[in-house]
Amino acid sequence: MQISLLETATTDGRTDQINVPFEMDAIAHGGNTYPVLGQPMIKVRLENVGKKVIDIYADTEVKVSIPCDRCLTPTQVIIPVHAFQRLDTRQDAAERIADLDECAFVTGMDLDPDLFVYFELLMNWPDKILCRQDCLGLCSRCGKNLNEGSCDCADEPKDPRMAAISDIFKKYKEV
Ligand SMILES: [Zn+2]
Ligand SMILES: [Zn+2]
Repeated sequence: MQISLLETATTDGRTDQINVPFEMDAIAHGGNTYPVLGQPMIKVRLENVGKKVIDIYADTEVKVSIPCDRCLTPTQVIIPVHAFQRLDTRQDAAERIADLDECAFVTGMDLDPDLFVYFELLMNWPDKILCRQDCLGLCSRCGKNLNEGSCDCADEPKDPRMAAISDIFKKYKEV
């Protein structure tokens, strides 16, 4: 859904508040795609601050399903988004490209709120995803999810040399 900036741009001091649904159903990030759960509303505020300059705000919370870093269980993560951009609507597209890091969310006088939120969402992407703080992860030998119970590997008598290697492996795996 596009939002026209025309009305806001042509009236000094004008403020518009528009709620629109976030229509992306998946987020592409770092070579993976993560499903968006539900459909959040984006609160868009447009403020004409004079001389055809518009301050664009977008606020929302996007719930995304991301696999746990340790056990790979799909985990619901809420990512808050508070996006802001000042836009000089007197500039043409080329000048705007030179000015903004990401200008793709404004085409002509139309704002794409999904893209605007998407860029900010990537900035706020969490570094670490855990299904729970004390997630036990997967067994490095048999791959069993240790949150669901221990596996038989742990009880096997270990060759001490192998145990040392396995410890190093575990340390490497530890997030
Ligand atoms: Zn986990
Ligand atoms: Zn195991």
